[in-house]
Amino acid sequence: MTDHYDILIVGAGHGGAQAAVALRQRKFTGTIAVLGEEPELPYERPPLSKDYLGGDKPFDRILIRPAAFWAEREITMLSGRRVITVDPAAHAVTTEDGATIGYGTLIWATGGHARKIDCRGHDLTGVHTVRSRADVDRMIAELATTTKVAVIGGGYIGLEAAAMLTKLGKQVTVIEAQDRVLARVAGEDLSRFFQDEHRAHGVDLRLATTVDHIEGETRATGVRLSSGEVIPADMVIVGIGIIPAVAPLIDAGAKGGNGVRIDDHGLTSLPDIYAIGDCALHASDFADGAAIRLESVQNANDMATVVAKAITGTPAPYDAVPWFWSHQYDIKLQTVGLSIAHDSAVLRGDPATRSFSVVYLKEGRVIALDCVNATKDYVQGRALVTGRVSPDAIALADPAIPLKSLG
Ligand SMILES: Cc1cc2nc3c(=O)[nH]c(=O)nc-3n(C[C@H](O)[C@H](O)[C@H](O)COP(=O)(O)OP(=O)(O)OC[C@H]3O[C@@H](n4cnc5c(N)ncnc54)[C@H](O)[C@@H]3O)c2cc1C
Repeated sequence: MTDHYDILIVGAGHGGAQAAVALRQRKFTGTIAVLGEEPELPYERPPLSKDYLGGDKPFDRILIRPAAFWAEREITMLSGRRVITVDPAAHAVTTEDGATIGYGTLIWATGGHARKIDCRGHDLTGVHTVRSRADVDRMIAELATTTKVAVIGGGYIGLEAAAMLTKLGKQVTVIEAQDRVLARVAGEDLSRFFQDEHRAHGVDLRLATTVDHIEGETRATGVRLSSGEVIPADMVIVGIGIIPAVAPLIDAGAKGGNGVRIDDHGLTSLPDIYAIGDCALHASDFADGAAIRLESVQNANDMATVVAKAITGTPAPYDAVPWFWSHQYDIKLQTVGLSIAHDSAVLRGDPATRSFSVVYLKEGRVIALDCVNATKDYVQGRALVTGRVSPDAIALADPAIPLKSLG
């Protein structure tokens, strides 16, 4: 087996796969290996809380590329291998199975691991996180004997799982510590809309509610809240975010902490080591230059392309506008830009029609949009975000006036 690659990509998820694809598209002819701890070839993660959980999409349909694709392009897949140390001086990594693999350039694309809940009962059977295929296969195996599900965390992943499990006939309770769902990523109008939708579908939504512990002997039987109330559950899903998988790089001296710090071209503070995707901490114009980590397919793919460009001698800085989507019930949410720093928001349309948008502004300029079953606004609103346009507020609130006419 070759133990040296011109490009070694650690992490075989969205970013890792796209980096290899983009390198070959740019006629990179050296050796490339993609090393990942999961046993599968790179697959799409978004369906895990959507169609794959619901049984509507088999695993082979969520593979990012079929096996033959990688072989034809001479991209070596090192699956089921985990990197535990990085030696930047020697240009080599070591794996859990004791191997040393050398590299010319290292691309770190390890995403993150699901954050575990820190309370009694966190390790009982029936307690799940939703990050990998293995996680979701374990849930699917228990579905036939599950009637009641408690979801801890009202972020996108918790809400998507809640929607799908409700569709499958389960009785779902969502427990959220904040006083609204999606508090970290969306404005109040959007939170209220999703709260109403979930309740209308029969979800028992508990806001401003914290967990004391998970009850059960060997299997989870319920979630005890700080109030003392017990929510009975045969299955508990913990959706409280991720911890970026950067320990080997930080231990090797890379700058960072909650993610590894990269420059505009994806380069870390260590020589010949790039980082991309969920684990990469970058200064974003869309966050007023603050160093942020984004967790989206768009970010992983676009950063991968930026790194491939840098490596193949056609550098271009990372400046892609962030976008994201979520599916819950028959609702298609599409977001563009980052709303976190908004100081005002304009509602376009009536949430009661289940088709509307929220436009977020800062100092009168558009910084983001959340579009619910409103693809036209999403497509046309992108230019308002990239152009930081200051539209007339009355026109902006009128859904009959196309956003493209406000640019
Ligand atoms: C359930 C779910 C639903 C989602 N839905 C959406 C959505 O609707 N829209 C959207 O835009 N985004 C969505 N996301 C987020 C999106 O999937 C991530 O942003 C994207 O996968 C990030 O890509 P990545 O390459 O950075 O990391 P990942 O795709 O997570 O890949 C990283 C890989 O590296 C591996 N790894 C970690 N450490 C090591 C190591 N030391 N050695 C070897 N391998 C290692 C991991 O096991 C993993 O396989 C969703 C995520 C989840 C989990």
